Amino acid sequence: MNVNRYLPLTVLAALLLFQPVRSQTASRSLDIYFIDVEGGAATLIVTPAGESLLIDSGFPGDRDAARIAHVALEVAGLKQIDHSIVTHWHRDHVGGIPTLAKLIPVRNYYDHGLPQTIAADMQAEFIEAYKQTTQGKSVTLKPGDLIKLRSPKYMPPLQVRVLAAGGMVLGEQSSVPQVRPCGTGFEAKPEDITDNVNSVGTLLTFGPFKFFDGGDLTWNIENRLVCPKNLIGAIDVYQVDHHGTDPSNNPTLVSALKARVDIIDDGPRKGADARTFATLKSVKETEAIYQLHRNLSTTDKDNTLAGYIANEEEACQGNFIKLSVEPGGKSYTVSIPAKQISRRYRTR
Ligand SMILES: [Zn+2]
Repeated sequence: MNVNRYLPLTVLAALLLFQPVRSQTASRSLDIYFIDVEGGAATLIVTPAGESLLIDSGFPGDRDAARIAHVALEVAGLKQIDHSIVTHWHRDHVGGIPTLAKLIPVRNYYDHGLPQTIAADMQAEFIEAYKQTTQGKSVTLKPGDLIKLRSPKYMPPLQVRVLAAGGMVLGEQSSVPQVRPCGTGFEAKPEDITDNVNSVGTLLTFGPFKFFDGGDLTWNIENRLVCPKNLIGAIDVYQVDHHGTDPSNNPTLVSALKARVDIIDDGPRKGADARTFATLKSVKETEAIYQLHRNLSTTDKDNTLAGYIANEEEACQGNFIKLSVEPGGKSYTVSIPAKQISRRYRTR
């Protein structure tokens, strides 16, 4: 039976016009999933061509690997993870890899280089498990490296560029001291001797759209990323450094990024610190701040509005935040699918 016969012509025309556009948008957006690993990091990027990049893998054990695998397999419909970056060697970033690799094939591994010695802030067992999983075939990233992702010819170019790794930022020599005075109102923090300072920081660009993920980079190196030259530039979306904690998120960096949307991958009692939250709010370009978790240690005024928080309770369902950039890169949608909340933003 031809149902179209019974539809008024205007309705039919509207359907014909609307449907292809809708299905194209659904299948060809650039998607970024901020997976809830309760104070760790796990950011899954899926390109319009279906290529995937996971930045960090949550804590060791089953919970976070299962959540990442669920989003990759069930939500994003992937069969494998093409690229995996571990920003640094802390357990809330490298921990999930061995279990995850049993749940979904992971093809290429990248990091800032395996440690020569196990420092006090690292745990040998997790680095050993990573080495076994990668079979020693991980690629060491340096500032300036590119992870090229396929993009169909009719779409804007898509690339992930390393701007910081191993304690250096783009254009620097390895001998540079961690604290380098620069800028008006320059303020240094005591030297960070943890592996946070070595985090791989990447800038993803898709046409005009820009997204920065700095892992757990801290205050002094954040200053070097934007002074004397802003190496990141003005961006659209900022994955707030170090789960939104105060030893990171130097106001000099945050104000230089001019992000319209901030996404904090915090846990119920880790990250989204009050000073950082106030810094993000004070940036005049900020249109929205999202949190994976309500910070239960602070008050309502130090948290974003309820409609921007994916998980309210400590005993949570692990709700993720999804960001979809439309095929031309000119606008994007941030949604919390479990709460059926979705908002659209213009690329700057
Ligand atoms: Zn961390």
